[in-house]
Amino acid sequence: MAGFTVAIVGRPNVGKSTLFNRLLEQRKAIVDDFSGVTRDRQYGVAEWCGKTFNVIDTGGFVSRSEDVFEKEIRKQVLIALDEADVILFVCDTATGITTLDDEMADVLRRSPKPVLLVVNKVDNAARLLEANEFYALGFDKVFFVSSISGSGTGELLDEVVAQMPEDVEMATTNVKRTIKREKTRSDEELEKEWEEDEDDLYNSDFDNIDEENEVIEQDEFVPKIAIIGQPNAGKSTLLNAFTGQERTIVSNIPGTTRDSIHTHYKLFGKEFILIDTAGLRRKKNVHEDLEFYSVIRAIRAMDEADVCLLVIDALNGITMQDINIFSLAARKGKGILILVNKWDAFEKETNTARDYEKKIKEKMAPFNDVPIVFISAKDKLRIFQAMEKTIEVHDNMKRRIQTSKLNEYLLKEIQKFPPPMTRGHNVSIKFVRQLPTKAPSFACYANYPEALSNGYRNFIENKIREQYNFSGVPLRIYFRKK
Ligand code: GDP
Ligand code: GDP
Repeated sequence: MAGFTVAIVGRPNVGKSTLFNRLLEQRKAIVDDFSGVTRDRQYGVAEWCGKTFNVIDTGGFVSRSEDVFEKEIRKQVLIALDEADVILFVCDTATGITTLDDEMADVLRRSPKPVLLVVNKVDNAARLLEANEFYALGFDKVFFVSSISGSGTGELLDEVVAQMPEDVEMATTNVKRTIKREKTRSDEELEKEWEEDEDDLYNSDFDNIDEENEVIEQDEFVPKIAIIGQPNAGKSTLLNAFTGQERTIVSNIPGTTRDSIHTHYKLFGKEFILIDTAGLRRKKNVHEDLEFYSVIRAIRAMDEADVCLLVIDALNGITMQDINIFSLAARKGKGILILVNKWDAFEKETNTARDYEKKIKEKMAPFNDVPIVFISAKDKLRIFQAMEKTIEVHDNMKRRIQTSKLNEYLLKEIQKFPPPMTRGHNVSIKFVRQLPTKAPSFACYANYPEALSNGYRNFIENKIREQYNFSGVPLRIYFRKK
């Protein structure tokens, strides 16, 4: 099973976004260590007890204007019911139960998905007494929390994690098969282990681990590709272009819609698995235009993929939502390729593609070493090139750099541009090593790792990218104590 999604619903001002931020904040290592990504507002990845899951604040997706208010909220609830694995229904103890709470509760009580009632703003003992009235809403699982202080959120997260099936596979849980580790252990857990064994790590003979200068690890897995992007960017047209045939449209059977379809096929002599989250090939339904829907779908597809093809509509240009999806894929450690679609319909002058590419890259900085291909899904223009680049990105993801070569190169670069002195200390990086994680990550061992800035992290990342081909691959750089 891939991915696990928790949706936060509730009427405005109950504290959904505060709770959302609180839940995401618990997550340490990877998000914070990963340089250059902005925090998304409405969706993100949370971590608790070594388990990772998606959290979505549905409030961020509905209009707040008065006249569409109730309708929008209803929509929010229906989408959450349809798409999430667990629903957090947030109420506000400061206001007590309102009519709207009652209405939402009516719908949610009938949900086949687990609903956890979260009574928010329980900041003190007096509030806790008042909060008891919420049992009247008729939910078995009630949590009293204060999103502002964080009290009670641990118990809530415990319950969310308890709801997760054992075999949830997320972005960070794929550990290289070639490293003798249990497959189920997440990168984060591995990271922790590395930290614990730091001395052993430092003293061990790394260069026995990888014998060649640079290796692309072979595995028998066929690359999994997800086509993601906003509604009408041309995803289904592209899928048809890849597979070369119109698909028969399967009717919308309740219960099957949220499962994705994986299609294994061969193109230009290469094998691929295309991930088709419910709806890519289906006739558009009423929800289809909702940004929220497209985001959830993209997240789900991403979780299952090795490489994400982000389709953008050349005529619209790259939007904030595109960038959010891009950052999320990067944060999940996925390979990424940008396909600028509808290039056939774009007015072109000399240098148009080059200028367009430059503009995109500016928006993606600092992770802008991403292949960009200008395609027309409709006319099948550069479809082959898009596929070739996809394979290249997939290969780049598997690139492993030998420790001695990496140090030979990087320590020299570091010497040329050493970290600045901090509080009277000379900060120095002693050595660097690529970690055995699926998404390429590097640990830099330093005497004062806490003194190293994000700017310096970007410097290291840039130097690695200059020397080795990690095009389309997000890199994680960790600073460790030595
Ligand atoms: P949303 O509209 O449901 O996303 O609500 P917000 O997260 O924007 O919160 C609405 C208001 O409630 C803001 O002023 C928050 O600061 C406040 N709030 C959120 N959580 C708490 C809490 O645990 N205690 C208190 N006292 N206020 C809170
Ligand atoms: P999706 O919602 O991302 O799956 O987008 P669709 O594949 O349904 O395409 C949305 C619209 O864009 C349709 O009207 C397509 O015919 C049109 N479209 C898709 N690809 C291209 C293209 O390469 N060029 C042009 N001109 N139109 C395209």
